[in-house]
Amino acid sequence: MHSLKTDNTIILRIDKGEDVVKSITEFCKKEGIGNAHFNGIGAVETLTCGYYNLEEKQYHFTDYAEPLEVVSLTGNVMLRDGSPFVHVHGVFTDTENKAFGGHVVEMRVHVVLEVMLTPLSSKIERHMDDCIGLALMKLD
Ligand code: ZN
Repeated sequence: MHSLKTDNTIILRIDKGEDVVKSITEFCKKEGIGNAHFNGIGAVETLTCGYYNLEEKQYHFTDYAEPLEVVSLTGNVMLRDGSPFVHVHGVFTDTENKAFGGHVVEMRVHVVLEVMLTPLSSKIERHMDDCIGLALMKLD
């Protein structure tokens, strides 16, 4: 991964074969970024994404192992147990330009992924919400 800081944004180029969530998480840890938001475009070769079922309080995921365009990746970084935690959703298209997407767990870059990361000065933490079954942002 390569990075360049400009204005209030950091441009990340995540290269072929690199794990996206891990790369962003490690970058934020290294740079001391606790809160941020980001977006990205590019392509991936493997993907695990899905949706959250509130009644079951669990995610349902599907694995993909094929070249996919990353049409729109959007996410945030918040602190969880004191460390940067990446929450990312994405819309992807296949070789027929058909779109799908969801909550992303893991994906590996195919060709390249271009991310614009904007650090925030806040120190928001995620805390487990037992009703929802997820760690939600604690805002007040
Ligand atoms: Zn999500």
